[in-house]
Amino acid sequence: MSFSATIITLFPELFPGPLGASVLGRGLADSLWSLEAVQLRDFSTDRHRTVDDTPSGGGAGMVLKPDILAKAIDTVSPAGDPRPRLLMSPRGAPLTQARAHELAEGPGAVIVCGRFEGIDQRVIDNRGLEEISIGDYVLAGGEVAAMVLLEAVVRLIPGVLGSADSHADESFENGLLEYPQYTRPQSFEGTEIPAVLTSGDHGRIARWRAEQSQALTAARRPDLLKK
Ligand code: SAH
Repeated sequence: MSFSATIITLFPELFPGPLGASVLGRGLADSLWSLEAVQLRDFSTDRHRTVDDTPSGGGAGMVLKPDILAKAIDTVSPAGDPRPRLLMSPRGAPLTQARAHELAEGPGAVIVCGRFEGIDQRVIDNRGLEEISIGDYVLAGGEVAAMVLLEAVVRLIPGVLGSADSHADESFENGLLEYPQYTRPQSFEGTEIPAVLTSGDHGRIARWRAEQSQALTAARRPDLLKK
């Protein structure tokens, strides 16, 4: 069984979008992973296909109704579905490379995309939705956030990116930011590639890269070193 993603959204036509391009798109075509985007409105029961209502207690905007969303979740993910149920949410735990690895090793994910002011708290509680945030800012909806999450996860699925060890040195994999990368030409606008990288001495190259990673992380993301 390959990684299977089901998205619950008011805008299924946005998918696969960028997830259909390049290596992720090839992985999709080759069934290394699968994607299904489901229209939340299809689970509405009234003539107007209503999915939202005004916030209890007052205030601006609209809230996604719990009954419609619960029906959608129960339909796409019946009891026994081993996939985690995620809700894209600015209140969620920040997405990390570690969580991306865990998800990539699992059976897939059911991902709920919020809109408007968000969704009724009771469906979050009663369906055990895990809230995940992609950063400390507010988007208009969960769709782009779900794409960010899936792009981070799917590129880790074996076979999608090719060589498995192409991940090992990347930013966040070892709690550090990646060292600077260079490629030809040897001289670019008067600046040479650092000599160590063309020395052929693999021990020295590894040490230089480790030092650069440490220094960059200390300068830009001291919070990562504390962890
Ligand atoms: N009123 C909410 C924000 C609603 S934004 C609040 O203040 O917390 C509408 C939807 O966009 C959310 O339900 C969520 O699905 C999505 N969204 C917005 N910002 C996000 C973020 N940083 N990470 C993940 N999803 C986000």
